[in-house]
Amino acid sequence: MPDINQLSAMRNYFNSGATKLYSFRIEQLKKLKQAVLAHEQDLYDALYTDLKKSKEEVWVTETGMVIAELNQAIQQLRQWMKATTTRTNLLNLPSSSHILKEPLGVVLIIGPWNYPFQLLINPLIGALAAGNCAVLKPSEFALATATIMKTIIKEVFPENYILYVEGDGAAVIPEMMNNFSFDHVFYTGSSAVGKIVYKMAAERLVPVTLELGGKSPCVVEQDANIIIAAKRIAMTKFSNAGQMCVAPDYILVHHSKKNELIEALKRSIENFFGTDAADSYNYGKIINQKQFNRIVNYLQDGTVLYGGKTNIDTLYIEPTLMDTVNINAAIMKEEIFGPVLPIIGFETMEEALKIIAINKNPLAFYLFTSSKTKEKVWLDSVAFGGGCINNASWHLTNHHLPFGGRGFSGTGQYHGKFSFDTFSHKKAVMKTPVWFDPAIKYPPFKGKLKLFKWVIR
Ligand code: NAD
Repeated sequence: MPDINQLSAMRNYFNSGATKLYSFRIEQLKKLKQAVLAHEQDLYDALYTDLKKSKEEVWVTETGMVIAELNQAIQQLRQWMKATTTRTNLLNLPSSSHILKEPLGVVLIIGPWNYPFQLLINPLIGALAAGNCAVLKPSEFALATATIMKTIIKEVFPENYILYVEGDGAAVIPEMMNNFSFDHVFYTGSSAVGKIVYKMAAERLVPVTLELGGKSPCVVEQDANIIIAAKRIAMTKFSNAGQMCVAPDYILVHHSKKNELIEALKRSIENFFGTDAADSYNYGKIINQKQFNRIVNYLQDGTVLYGGKTNIDTLYIEPTLMDTVNINAAIMKEEIFGPVLPIIGFETMEEALKIIAINKNPLAFYLFTSSKTKEKVWLDSVAFGGGCINNASWHLTNHHLPFGGRGFSGTGQYHGKFSFDTFSHKKAVMKTPVWFDPAIKYPPFKGKLKLFKWVIR
């Protein structure tokens, strides 16, 4: 736990204005990029230790995403920082109106364990680009990765600029948030802890971004390309052994295509991970025993159609397909966050929407269909954070799209320019010349109503 003097030193450093300059920000982004590349192998090793991720998976979902964000920020920073001019309404003419992008100050970034590198460092890129100081709190459950991140951060940044704080989140975070007023808290993790963080922030009126969990439905319509659907669903559902915030949580498939989809999913799983995923280079492990036990319990909530093998010693849970799940059981009330995929048939859209409505505001929503009309109807009917048509989860890797949930799945958005915006205040400034000063704007107002109605409309 940092002592309050360390946080005050960060405040002083921010107040010095050093972090605001373009030259400073760009240099920090470039230094961070160099350091990440220099530690590429260490990160592969660490992420293998924590989650048994392959190098290739690490590049696609962790380091590569960070490098892509850094490249974009380095390329676009000057443009992002520019003040913009906007229109001025009739009432205020001939004033001019501008929006300045101002850093927020000292921000706190809290990360989870499932993509421990990317989900801590990507928000940091936005914070640096926007000219802030930041406290980084990684998850305590992906220790190997946390150790490398600590090395990187300490190598590159002084502690009064970027402070890396370890330890039990339940102790360290309240201690910091109750004793220091951060200018923003960016939290990624479970909804349960998100509520705790939100309450602490509210006490001091600290703005927050909450990137929470969710139960993301995946709808497969009668007219979907089933082979493609199965490949794309299996790919992201079982990536990182299902421990992905935007993984398809459960499938709602039109009854007429259910059996065909199940068979195609089985084939896809075997094509990707072989007949024994325990030996697969491409298949990960569960982070710890607590999560392992939680996921294994879901196997009782329906019929295992495929998979279901587990090994607590290696924290292995086989890619598993489930049928006849009990809609009232935990498996359909909680985010699964593991390699267990319920497959539920539906006849009408209304039936499917009722199931989706049990878990409001999913973080993501996926639809497989070849009909533009169905696409429109589904997109209009479900309130979700972000999603894909004829794909699953990949929207998250496009940094030109904002990423975030809504309501129960979170508040605020980031990635690319949206990260810069999240960590910047848009300061609105109107500049009024002194050569024009009409009497209409000053009392007495009596008799001016008609004129006001003409000007303000
Ligand atoms: P978690 O909520 O257990 O932990 C997240 C962070 O909160 C950790 O750094 C932890 O130290 C800290 N923390 C724990 N208890 C705390 C407390 N009482 N007060 C303050 N901080 C505390 O989440 P997790 O298990 O690491 O991550 C899994 C969850 O995160 C899933 O629900 C998943 O969907 C969600 N998630 C969301 C996104 C997203 O982008 N929306 C991304 C990844 C994970």
